[in-house]
Amino acid sequence: MVYRDLATMKEAETVRTRPLVRLRPGYLQLVTGPRAIFVYERRGRLVRAVLDGHAFQVGLDNRVLEKWQEGGQAGLRGRHRRWLTPSAALELRERARQAAALCLHQLESLPILAETGEGKAEVARWLARASAYDEARWQADAAAFARVYSPISILPPDQYDSLVLQATLGCSYNRCTFCSFYRDRAFRIRRPEEFREHVRAVQELVGEGISYFHQVFLADANALIIPQRLLLSIFEIARRALPQLANPGIYSFLDVFGGLRKNARDFAELSALGLQMVYLGIESGSRDLLRFLNKPGGPEETAAVVEAIKGGGVAVGLIFLVGAGGRQYREKHFQETLRLLSELPLDGRDVIYLSPFVEEAASEYTQVAEEEGVEPLSENEILEEVRRLWQGIEAIAWTANQGRPRVTLYDIREFIY
Ligand code: SF4
Repeated sequence: MVYRDLATMKEAETVRTRPLVRLRPGYLQLVTGPRAIFVYERRGRLVRAVLDGHAFQVGLDNRVLEKWQEGGQAGLRGRHRRWLTPSAALELRERARQAAALCLHQLESLPILAETGEGKAEVARWLARASAYDEARWQADAAAFARVYSPISILPPDQYDSLVLQATLGCSYNRCTFCSFYRDRAFRIRRPEEFREHVRAVQELVGEGISYFHQVFLADANALIIPQRLLLSIFEIARRALPQLANPGIYSFLDVFGGLRKNARDFAELSALGLQMVYLGIESGSRDLLRFLNKPGGPEETAAVVEAIKGGGVAVGLIFLVGAGGRQYREKHFQETLRLLSELPLDGRDVIYLSPFVEEAASEYTQVAEEEGVEPLSENEILEEVRRLWQGIEAIAWTANQGRPRVTLYDIREFIY
């Protein structure tokens, strides 16, 4: 039986002992048991699964991130994550392939919830593709991904479902002591011809699976630093090639020092071409802490850049690195970040990201911290700082009448693309 909405299906299927097939825009979901869900994009490739309360996300490079909440601990403290070993990832893929094959075999007797208006024939084709997605195909995908992309080092947490287009490679600065995301490559801006070719290669890579993506993310680190005329060409190319994604929106990173090179009119031009939000790695409202982190800028520069972006009609995503600077900078970081935030013209379109600091062993940060006697905070202390800052932000009385910015967590250990 094919149902068009959940309410009708629930009414008809009061006792559900059989698997359920659900077709949603961009993906097909199989519920094969009370605690087993598999999700496939249109090519039949597994993109995520939930098994016994553990969530699995599959990257385009075939890596799988497993996340779960432990021991009744609510919130940040109970969150756990790990990367599956290659053999465990293979086992998951095979389990998903077999689930698709079984559902295809039993399709005549299964309830189908098709929210896209498509019928049983399309479900059958989709399941056939998923049940034929063998290891050779997975390995070919990973190899193609490595050819098309430079490593995608990080994305904001609400951009994992964006189609990434690399307009630049690396970071134009690359010297913040705490950040090693782009140390493996020299900064370079793609010329329009090369970018057009990259977009074509990305389209070929994802094929029909493109319907799984929601919008465009222009990478790498601070892609919006591209000189304005060239950047407008890059936006035009993305829009022309991918109107179905660029029209919902184009998103990108910028740093404060790069933002100072643009004004409200520049951002208004980009807004007219689809730019929805600029993610700014601010890290802290404390100039002293930024100096310690070797990151250019300070609260006055941040305020000027945020005003220019918002003056151009674009929302901001402001990222703060909670726990950086350890015990010595803790109070200054907290107080001056709150002061900065309370002075910014934020509203309901904006988001504040609190990113717990993850210190890499033998990093430049560790070396400088040792030299200056900066004592690290424990993981629990960092989470406590996240909680404290979150509460402090919630208490700010913003004057804008278009709502308050949302506050959310940005855990770089949970990044997968
Ligand atoms: S934090 Fe941003 S500006 Fe600093 S090195 Fe990393 S990507 Fe570049």
